[in-house]
Amino acid sequence: MADPKENVLMEKIVSLCKRRGFVFQSSEIYGGINGFWDYGPLGAELKRNVKELWWNTMTRMREDVAGLEATIIMSPKIWEASGHVATFSDPMIDCKTCKGRFRADQINDISCPQKPSKMVSECAGEKTAPRPFNLMLQTYVGPIQSEENIAYLRPETAQAIFAQFKNVLETSRQKVPFGIAQVGKAFRNEVTPRNFTFRSREFEQMELEFFIKPDEVVEAISGSVATPAAAGHPGEPQPNWGWQLWHQYWVEERVRFYEGIGLDRSTLGFHIQTPEELAHYARATTDILFKFPFSKVDEQGNVKGDELEGIAARSDFDLSQHERFSGKTMGIFDEELRTAWGKLPKEKQDDLWRRYYQARKNYLEKSGVKPEDAEKDATEDANGLAKGQYIPHVIEPSAGVDRLILALIANAFTEVTDTDDKGKSETRVVMKFHPRVAPVKAGVMPLLKNKPELVKKALAVRDLLRPWMNVYYDDAGSIGRRYARQDEAGTPYCVTVDFETLGEKPELLDTVTIRHRDDGKQERLAIGELRDWLLARGR
Ligand code: ATP
Repeated sequence: MADPKENVLMEKIVSLCKRRGFVFQSSEIYGGINGFWDYGPLGAELKRNVKELWWNTMTRMREDVAGLEATIIMSPKIWEASGHVATFSDPMIDCKTCKGRFRADQINDISCPQKPSKMVSECAGEKTAPRPFNLMLQTYVGPIQSEENIAYLRPETAQAIFAQFKNVLETSRQKVPFGIAQVGKAFRNEVTPRNFTFRSREFEQMELEFFIKPDEVVEAISGSVATPAAAGHPGEPQPNWGWQLWHQYWVEERVRFYEGIGLDRSTLGFHIQTPEELAHYARATTDILFKFPFSKVDEQGNVKGDELEGIAARSDFDLSQHERFSGKTMGIFDEELRTAWGKLPKEKQDDLWRRYYQARKNYLEKSGVKPEDAEKDATEDANGLAKGQYIPHVIEPSAGVDRLILALIANAFTEVTDTDDKGKSETRVVMKFHPRVAPVKAGVMPLLKNKPELVKKALAVRDLLRPWMNVYYDDAGSIGRRYARQDEAGTPYCVTVDFETLGEKPELLDTVTIRHRDDGKQERLAIGELRDWLLARGR
């Protein structure tokens, strides 16, 4: 369990989130609804910034990724093909005494809802045997609530990407390797939503499916497959990269993203899934963890963290499943492969053919295809190599927006104690958000509210900045109070219009004071430079 001291921190964070308008309980006036959260004015801005940064980093700043925005409700066949209808479930147990309902694999971690002061493991009540509970939220499409009209709210954004793979490939003029990115809502009827927004029933995901050539194809084209030589970022992608290097590349790219928005590597952790944890089709999965205030502390005092994002090497499972279930081909034609194949010595062709055949046969058999059909289909698939045909493999970096927001809030939360001239101390909160994610980029304020020239100039500065970034105009109370308010909102800079701005000292005409949140340092800057100065730091 987390150290009790740390849970006090979590309580402070939850209370700040409500007090300052980061996160509210959904439907609060009706007593709330478990597992659903709303983002208030500051939270909404923070979330927007995070999603926009992700989108820009993953699509606009890259040549090899295209975007998608698909519907939340899709054909239920998608969820049959993906395996969600059959297997997307958690083991659920009930306590016959307290009537609590729990995930069997978390029974020792959580409080009993009926007796919040008690841990479940202390609740001696007899438990039912675990039974699978499907996490997909169900609805009906059309006026009749019948079996054939059942549809699901998507439990992940990824499947739409696979289902639209061919359309995006054809319209974006991309070639494998390339990726498709999507940000959007996902829904899971979690048995026990908990840890504030960490495990919600409605949440948002930011997912990339990055399609790569199977290793056999890379080998046919490049002669051999490069494998990881060292830990860390492997550098610019190369044509001879196999799935392992692509996987390593995406783990490191994602860590860079987190570092770029203020989550230092020391705040992160990693979990490499064991062969027992991996899905049968997955080659490897690395989870990037964040050390949340509620994360467990082990006997040595180390905190491993809880999952922010999973980066999975999913082989060609998803596209293959959709090919089988829809009857539409998901394979692609690669001229480079066709040409390269023709030039390979016979033994090499046979070797690659055999390996590809084996991989396809394994997949088909594990997916329930009869052995004789699996052999036939795998033979056809392997014969496709000579014609330049194959089903791409995929690397999937899949991140949760809400978990990241919570991580950013926990990471930013800092208490500082100020002591005034009379020796009176006051502890207050400074939210040290990285300027790139900060909900408000600059507070704009006239030194005094009752001096029309100051107010007029300050409003002009606000209007100058407003089309470019979120700014907050504040003229209420002492300047110290106003700074403190912005510190609590996490605003990295405050811009103050004072008498010098108006030309009290002619050399300072049209300059403003910039006050830095984290060290209180102040400097002067010309109004004409202000916009670019702030954009350089906050974008
Ligand atoms: P967990 O093991 O914590 O349930 P998961 O491995 O099932 O998560 P994925 O299916 O890999 O999660 O989803 C990708 C990402 O979506 C997760 O890393 C997480 O950030 C986010 N996510 C998943 N479930 C939830 C949830 N219930 N609430 C908030 N975010 C979630």
